[in-house]
Amino acid sequence: MTAATFDSTFVESEERQALRQAVAALGRRYGLEYFIRTTRAGEHTHELWQEAGKLGYLGVNLPEEYGGGGGGIAELSIVLEELGAAGSPLLMLVVSPAICGTVIARFGTDEQRRRWLPGIADGSARMAFGITEPEAGSNSHRLATVGRRDGTDWLVSGRKVFISGVDAADATLIVGRTEDARTGRLKPALFIVPRDTPGFEYRPIEMELTSPEKQFQLFLDDVRLPADALVGDEDAGLLQLFAGLNPERIMTAAFSIGMGRCALDRAVDYARTREVWKTAIGAHQGLAHPLAQARIEIELSRLMMQKAAFLYDSGDDLGAGEAANMAKFAAAEAAAKAVDQAVHTLGGNGLTTEYGLGALLTASRVARIAPVSREMILNFVAQHTLGLPKSY
Ligand SMILES: Cc1cc2nc3c(=O)[nH]c(=O)nc-3n(C[C@H](O)[C@H](O)[C@H](O)COP(=O)(O)OP(=O)(O)OC[C@H]3O[C@@H](n4cnc5c(N)ncnc54)[C@H](O)[C@@H]3O)c2cc1C
Repeated sequence: MTAATFDSTFVESEERQALRQAVAALGRRYGLEYFIRTTRAGEHTHELWQEAGKLGYLGVNLPEEYGGGGGGIAELSIVLEELGAAGSPLLMLVVSPAICGTVIARFGTDEQRRRWLPGIADGSARMAFGITEPEAGSNSHRLATVGRRDGTDWLVSGRKVFISGVDAADATLIVGRTEDARTGRLKPALFIVPRDTPGFEYRPIEMELTSPEKQFQLFLDDVRLPADALVGDEDAGLLQLFAGLNPERIMTAAFSIGMGRCALDRAVDYARTREVWKTAIGAHQGLAHPLAQARIEIELSRLMMQKAAFLYDSGDDLGAGEAANMAKFAAAEAAAKAVDQAVHTLGGNGLTTEYGLGALLTASRVARIAPVSREMILNFVAQHTLGLPKSY
């Protein structure tokens, strides 16, 4: 690795800075008020999604020959971070272009790439991602969704829970298992399941979140799929899964960092002007220091996210795995703390509907739980980075 390429993870190239500024300008035209108003009206942020798609932001990471921008997860994370910093994060960026787009671009057949990537890139098609199951939870070894061959077709059955955005997605990429013909063991396999496929049912879960993307329970009951619903090759399921999970973690970090910045900006604006005694409340170190600390922690987690994106985009899946886990952990903790401190800075106004920060309280906790909980990341680092024994 040359010094120049290494430096580029610290100092953003002019192209990336320009992308950041352009996305920030789009985000400002929508913002937190739009996001909360739309969500409370029970609507989706489709206008923003479509505009971002037309401008080429949704597919910055996808190959140019399929309508993408030819960049990587580094670019896509900039898009999500800046939209989030403006108050209008698009959660489905974590799923549609980052997981599904990446997996199909890397492992899909030519036909699957042609069918899905141009739409995912321009925003006209969306794909949800379903791995979590009610019984398996954090233990993905217990996944019980199974695809069985029936002639050339697949019959897929199972249940999923907490799957985001299924109602607005054309299809869901379902993580299941198939039987290995040689060993008889079950191994991971990814199936593209269009939303209107008979036997595929989705029901919303009531969540305490101000988010336009809803979470769903999925019921797959002998869902008949054609042979080409299986992504790529039957033997590459595990590789495919990891190819999708690292971008998911990096993008969840971007989601958190954007939200943390949004909350912090609002708190700082408020603390600069609100006077209770003789000076602005931001002059009191009891308020200023936690805000300064939140800024430092957000900045540090962004650095880790940039490292993870750099490793991933350079093809180092293994190195990216550790960095992506650490980045997601750090960003989720930093955002939860920043939002909490921002709410506190506004006093009573921190919980008014008008200031919009209360809505971020629950949203900022999501990244501590999903896509992998903070404890499972600590387990990963304890075992893989530190070499400590496993307790479970
Ligand atoms: C808003 C939201 C959106 C989501 N979107 C999606 C989506 O689009 N697609 C998808 O597939 N999933 C999605 N999820 C699901 C999410 O990935 C899971 O909730 C998460 O992986 C945790 O699984 P669980 O809820 O079953 O918790 P559990 O596995 O039951 O864990 C419960 C608690 O126990 C702890 N725990 C479990 N095992 C251990 C251990 N060995 N050591 C220490 N602690 C442990 C966990 O850290 C956690 O705190 C979403 C979840 C939320 C909240």
